[in-house]
Amino acid sequence: KLYPLRPNSAGRELGHRPHLAELSEAIEQFRGPYEPLPALINAEAYRHEGALHPIRNPASTEKPIGEWRVSGTAVVDHAMSVAHDAFPKWNARPVEERGQLLRDFADRMEAQLPYLVSIIAHEAGRTVDDGIAEVREAVDFCRYYAQRAEELMVDQEMPGPVGELNMYHLEGRGVWAAISPWNFPLAIFVGQIAAAVATGNTVVAKPAPQTPYIAWRVIEMWHEVGLPAGVVNLVLGAGETGQAMINHPALAGVVFTGSVPTAKAINRALAEREGPIVPLIAETGGINAMIVDSTALPEQVADDVVGSAFRSAGQRCSALRILYVQEDVADHMLEMIQGAAEALKIGPPKDLSVDMGPVIDTDAVERLDAHWNEISAKGKVRYKGQAPEGGTFFAPRIVELENFRDLQSEAFGPILHVCRWKPSQLDEVIASIHETGFGLTFGIHSRLESRQRQLAAAAPTGNVYINRNMVGAIVGVQPFGGRGLSGTGPKAGGPLYLTRFCEEKHVCENT
Ligand code: GLU
Repeated sequence: KLYPLRPNSAGRELGHRPHLAELSEAIEQFRGPYEPLPALINAEAYRHEGALHPIRNPASTEKPIGEWRVSGTAVVDHAMSVAHDAFPKWNARPVEERGQLLRDFADRMEAQLPYLVSIIAHEAGRTVDDGIAEVREAVDFCRYYAQRAEELMVDQEMPGPVGELNMYHLEGRGVWAAISPWNFPLAIFVGQIAAAVATGNTVVAKPAPQTPYIAWRVIEMWHEVGLPAGVVNLVLGAGETGQAMINHPALAGVVFTGSVPTAKAINRALAEREGPIVPLIAETGGINAMIVDSTALPEQVADDVVGSAFRSAGQRCSALRILYVQEDVADHMLEMIQGAAEALKIGPPKDLSVDMGPVIDTDAVERLDAHWNEISAKGKVRYKGQAPEGGTFFAPRIVELENFRDLQSEAFGPILHVCRWKPSQLDEVIASIHETGFGLTFGIHSRLESRQRQLAAAAPTGNVYINRNMVGAIVGVQPFGGRGLSGTGPKAGGPLYLTRFCEEKHVCENT
């Protein structure tokens, strides 16, 4: 059976007083790493040279919360060969044993949720709500992939002629480079690694340079519950460290989440390296659209638009970037959306009541400002929120555009673009969505069933959401991932994700 019932992690409830107290206490007690974080190889801190960089709290201009050290090529080479040596034994372990280690790790993360949320809040500026969702997602990835590996990695006898035994199975490929982003510094980081190790691979993981601490702590936790040394190793750095991972002869696959230019650069580097052709799983961004027609419920639209565009400070690849509203209801809808945006509380995530935290760093603010200057000159500014002082805050903004095709690039933050459409223009709206070349998420707000069906079928995206928000895909329920410029697939948290991490093997015996 492909989809047995499997409960997702329950997380914690901010409305429940004991949970709230536990979370506030963890946030209060947060301490950064007491020494600069080095690479973590063979289950140990690996002492090495390398430039030091600060770990900053995006919500604060106070001194950094810690430091990390760049892993140079020699460190990466060491990590890759340790992972290579660990591979045969790990790949030979029964899949249930690997699965059990994933489940034990998931239980540990679930038990340590307040502590993990406190790190995510300080290091990535994510709200406590987002932090809770992220721990739940990381836990779900581990449990789901453990289960899927057990379902997929069984010896199968293929039907064939009499006198022949035809056996088929899946096995690990070798060492995977897992390169993850800062916007989900726990969930995506863990999800990539969990998929690789569930299927018998070993890993060298490189978290984003902005968020090394959460990565470090969870890999330590995984070792504490019995993950064998060498199966998962951590190196720290940016492009050069990634390049060294890709150049290593032991590389058997790359799983990457991040920008389109980086995904393409990895693809080029893979094509040019010596040695075997290895697979790349890339999850990138999107210019995600939502279409609202005149039958939609305005209150629900306002809530879902604000949630999709501004939650997590718009720093989700699934986030809503361009809203197409039917002309005759547009003024009313926009007024309600603006009202809902004004009601958002923006501030440091250590305040548990905030709805939106900062963006990740000053570079992000600069990129968003540059985008805003360009796009707002083309359109009409509908709303510009007020950012608090202190960290790298960027308040929500809404701009109305005349031309369906004015938005040409992804702005990774809380900027919403709006266009009005008349029924005679619906085909053109859809054509303009296709023309972006992206294909991640798509939202529909309509009470007309025929329109829901028509738009869902026409959407060139991997995920479609009808009459709800369009972010926060749940593992094993809403497999997540796009097409075209948005990624290669298979979908994370979906039934086919693990297959890309595997080699297929067939043995035919004349009996
Ligand atoms: N899976 C997340 C969601 O559904 C987005 C992941 C990302 O931003 O990379 O919102």
